[in-house]
Amino acid sequence: MSKLILVFLGPPGVGKGTQAAKLATDLALPHISTGDLFRDHLKRDTELGQKAKGYMNEGKLVPDELVVDLVMDRIAADDCNEGFILDGFPRTVAQDESLEKALSANDQKVSAALYFDAPRETIVARISGRRTCKACGAMYHAEFSPTAKDGVCDACGGETYQRVDDAAEKVSERLSEYDNKTGPLVPHYREKGVLKQFDAEGGVDDIYGQVKAFVEGLKQGA
Ligand code: AMP
Repeated sequence: MSKLILVFLGPPGVGKGTQAAKLATDLALPHISTGDLFRDHLKRDTELGQKAKGYMNEGKLVPDELVVDLVMDRIAADDCNEGFILDGFPRTVAQDESLEKALSANDQKVSAALYFDAPRETIVARISGRRTCKACGAMYHAEFSPTAKDGVCDACGGETYQRVDDAAEKVSERLSEYDNKTGPLVPHYREKGVLKQFDAEGGVDDIYGQVKAFVEGLKQGA
């Protein structure tokens, strides 16, 4: 079977990270979230973290050249030999072109781009209630999926917080970055014949059932 390389695509807050994490656990594949990779650099105050911080806090995309090397290094690691799940990358057509070039050098390509979409009011409500664990990155929602104990991660006991870029005043900037720069990836992947769209308005488990069925079909057809 060819290597399973999945791209999770969609606006911020649509729930793609939650779906990607579930699938990664199920398939025992690495879940590569560029947002998480950057937040880790921020936390460790690395040179890359310092370069990315301003963009992230303003809700803007980090420039392609800072993102691409980070991802290329990560997907070259041994744990990606069986495949991997990209969450939040590519976010521009140029990023996909870099990815395609790197993959084709090894006779590989993206198996599918799973595109999640939901009405804007759903997205805004999801982002503004989102709480993230500082220690392990687990995600909660203040109203729809709260932690058992306020401010404490159920998974690891770490502290949960609201990301700076999840604050209401940053959300419209992130959505406009998405519309202008990431949105064009939808027709781009459709033209390549690898786009699969999911209605992300429903509950996590319902959507996950559809994701799992699609990926099982993909594996059988491979
Ligand atoms: P996320 O956790 O996916 O919402 O990402 C948080 C922030 O990290 C984004 O708003 C961007 O500033 C930055 N970021 C993550 N992935 C990318 C990417 N592929 N290209 C550019 N910036 C990114």
